[in-house]
Amino acid sequence: MHDAIVAVPPPGNDPVLGYAPGSPERARLEVELARLAGECPEIPLVIGGQRLTTGRLVPVVMPHAHRHVVAHFHAAEPAHVEQAIRAAADARREWETMRWEARAAVFLRAAELLAGPWRERIIAATMLGQSKTVHQAEIDAACELVDFLRWNVAYAARLYAEQPASAPGMWNMMELRPLEGFTFALTPFNFTAIALNLPTAPALMGNTVVWKPSESQMLAAWHTLLLLEEAGLPPGVINMLPGFGHELAPVAVGHRDLGAIHFTGSTEVFRALWRQGGENIAGYRSYPRLVGETGGKDFIVAHPSADPRAVATAIVRGGYEYQGQKCSASSRVYLAASVWKQLEAELVATIDELGVGDVRDFSNFCGGVIKQSAFDRHAAAIAEARETGGMKVLAGGTCDARDGWFVRPTFITTEDPSVRLMRDELFGPIVTAHVFPDHAWGEVLDLVDRTSPYALTGAVFARERTALVEATTRLRHAAGNFYLNDKPTGAVVGQQPFGGARASGTDDKAGSALNLLRFVAARTIKETFVPATDWRYPYQG
Ligand code: NAD
Repeated sequence: MHDAIVAVPPPGNDPVLGYAPGSPERARLEVELARLAGECPEIPLVIGGQRLTTGRLVPVVMPHAHRHVVAHFHAAEPAHVEQAIRAAADARREWETMRWEARAAVFLRAAELLAGPWRERIIAATMLGQSKTVHQAEIDAACELVDFLRWNVAYAARLYAEQPASAPGMWNMMELRPLEGFTFALTPFNFTAIALNLPTAPALMGNTVVWKPSESQMLAAWHTLLLLEEAGLPPGVINMLPGFGHELAPVAVGHRDLGAIHFTGSTEVFRALWRQGGENIAGYRSYPRLVGETGGKDFIVAHPSADPRAVATAIVRGGYEYQGQKCSASSRVYLAASVWKQLEAELVATIDELGVGDVRDFSNFCGGVIKQSAFDRHAAAIAEARETGGMKVLAGGTCDARDGWFVRPTFITTEDPSVRLMRDELFGPIVTAHVFPDHAWGEVLDLVDRTSPYALTGAVFARERTALVEATTRLRHAAGNFYLNDKPTGAVVGQQPFGGARASGTDDKAGSALNLLRFVAARTIKETFVPATDWRYPYQG
């Protein structure tokens, strides 16, 4: 359809389903969990819509039952990156000239399928492959992903509608062209929503993509790629390469036609990509856009006027949901001594009660951590806390890797607020807290600001308005997502655009118009209706 200025369906937020015993969604999910746990697909490379196999099979296991293999993926070789880049270039001609509403309709259809008949399948894949509880999988793989797909369309429509002024006798227009080149989407294990948003957001804006999902998210990645195919995504628009980042990324990042890197993952990997891009700068056709959301060392600060029960709830939910493997998870906490005194006993007892185990047992609050190396890192951090003077492990502190990679939610206190566990991202269920004298509020805000290189999320609890105002001002650059009297996790698309600065990323706010703008190159067109025919100006007369 060419002759219409269309209005997109209003996005809203997908409602969170409860999965209570006896509910229809629970019954459907249990069927899908059993089905996917009983299958063991071989996940191929998908280039230009073709399935390719390499025979280099890598097992995908359940982190909470690591002897159970749920799939194998064929690991791509560096030569496949070249092939995927060519397929992206071939698909681009038709995709970028298609009307944007037609591209948008593919993603709106994907959102509708996911919200409806595909919901339990994608949730089950996320639960089994990434060890998310049903609630964590629901808010990620269903709600957030549906929201990304719908809201991005609404944002794109607004961006396309934004036009320059036109003086009398002329018509000025601006179009948002896709970047000249392919987008390389390199995605993390911890969110199915992020993993699909990174290739789909640039694709919505007319780009074509080479997507390298995380090795530890391959089961859900595969099912979401099938969802896009079902929604009608043309072959070659998103080319999926399972495999290892250190083998594949250098080919994509070193390529002349790199248009953008859309990355979410660790700070260290993003810095390496940036470094390689810098070294190759003269070899590119354009300046590639570098969009990266990276690590965090997210804080909770409690003022003496804070509600202790609200602070305790934020520590439990913000620190331990999804085993602390959210970039936004609170892992350093600063508590006024009077608040600590009121919440200590109940907080420690609550943390020790949290169920840890197989996520198919719906009573568990936590599953396994993602892989052996993560388990080892967390076990070492807990041992370090036990051996460090002034640090105490008050809750949790045990690890068991016999069946799954289980690390019990662990709460540690430290007298020295500058210890490594208050600075470094661990990305696990370990929260370290420092208790400060009530009168030291001002100093503690400085401490929060300077202790860690990251600036992703942070939360301040206080009932006194002046304390909230002071913290908001003094911690202005300490977090890209800042919460007053709420936990620092759980950003909702369309409500709290997400991203941080400093070592946490380029702050391009996933799920917002700011993010989409990074994947377009604007072209301005001026048309003069009656052009000048005399070169002289009046003053010359
Ligand atoms: P990761 O950096 O290990 O992996 C991310 C991607 O990079 C994966 O696809 C991986 O295969 C690839 N990769 C790994 N090593 C590579 C290398 N040497 N060269 C090229 N590619 C490589 O991250 P992860 O463990 O999957 O995810 C956890 C990290 O992601 C945490 O640091 C977390 O804070 C961050 N994260 C940030 C946000 C955010 O919005 N800021 C959101 C989610 C996750």
